[in-house]
Amino acid sequence: MDTQVSAAVAAVAGDRATVRSDGERIGVVLDATGLTPLERDAMEAAVKMAAPGARVIVTAERATRALLAVASGKGGVGKSTLAANLAVALARGGRRVGLVDADIYGPSQPRLMRVEGTRPEAIEKQLIPVATPYGVPLLSMGQLVEPGRELAWRGPMAAGALGQLVEGAWGAADTLVLDLPPGTGDVQLTMVQKYRPAGAVIVSTPQDLALIDARRAIDLFEKAGVPIIGLVENMAGYACPHCGEVSDPFGRGGAEAAAAELNIPFLGRVPLDIAIRTASDAGEPPAAQPDDRIFAPIAALVQDWLAAR
Ligand code: ADP
Repeated sequence: MDTQVSAAVAAVAGDRATVRSDGERIGVVLDATGLTPLERDAMEAAVKMAAPGARVIVTAERATRALLAVASGKGGVGKSTLAANLAVALARGGRRVGLVDADIYGPSQPRLMRVEGTRPEAIEKQLIPVATPYGVPLLSMGQLVEPGRELAWRGPMAAGALGQLVEGAWGAADTLVLDLPPGTGDVQLTMVQKYRPAGAVIVSTPQDLALIDARRAIDLFEKAGVPIIGLVENMAGYACPHCGEVSDPFGRGGAEAAAAELNIPFLGRVPLDIAIRTASDAGEPPAAQPDDRIFAPIAALVQDWLAAR
């Protein structure tokens, strides 16, 4: 009897299933590691058909997933743009990446990743990330509220909503890029303390390189015991839309010097380029372009940092 059941179970679940019997009842332990919730449910149903009356227990090793925070001391510096492109560039580099948009003040990832207006489904209250054209599934605060409704999150509420996103059905993702709300207030601190990212990338512009805001962002992570991966300088130099040449109205080298002064690594610079804005507005992250030379090197440094952990 047991061997018949074992064969029937193996036919639908392969070596994911282990069949046991205590003499009275048959039990099947099903390893669902790496399966999506839909695949897991389908396999569980097939096993129950193959072994009627058996007790089926589904297990999954919790994937060890790196949560990478992208933060800035204030809004408008290109934090969301960097988060989207870093996620796409890391995915192109071979990581399995998901994107969590925690920006309660202006969640822009659905637009940047070309899935505006989508709503995630839920299975057993677990949100299923929305697939994007760039191989990076997304869950966004913007998907949790009715379109056009005011967002009035308070700190603990925002952290609770973030939990739903971080604990979504991320399947095989090994990395979650987390687009934090801009600024360094209680909301951000609560989120960071509760979800303890593996590391943080700080985005700043050359104009801010008095760096008072970046310094506040660094303090926030240090308070929570989260290591800083490094600083990205955005809107650094101006890329001429006609010839592509980058000029530096604010001077060059300020960000590297500032990073050194703050004692954190410098990850690279992204020029102020109208093409970045128009592509972003159109839901086409520049990092997805085959000739991307801007975000790939930044992602490579982040990848090295992750690999060395
Ligand atoms: P934040 O998340 O810090 O508020 P966003 O990523 O939303 O900032 O960027 C603010 C605006 O600046 C957006 O319109 C975006 O397209 C534009 N932007 C960001 N980075 C660049 C860049 N390097 N070149 C041109 N425009 C940029």
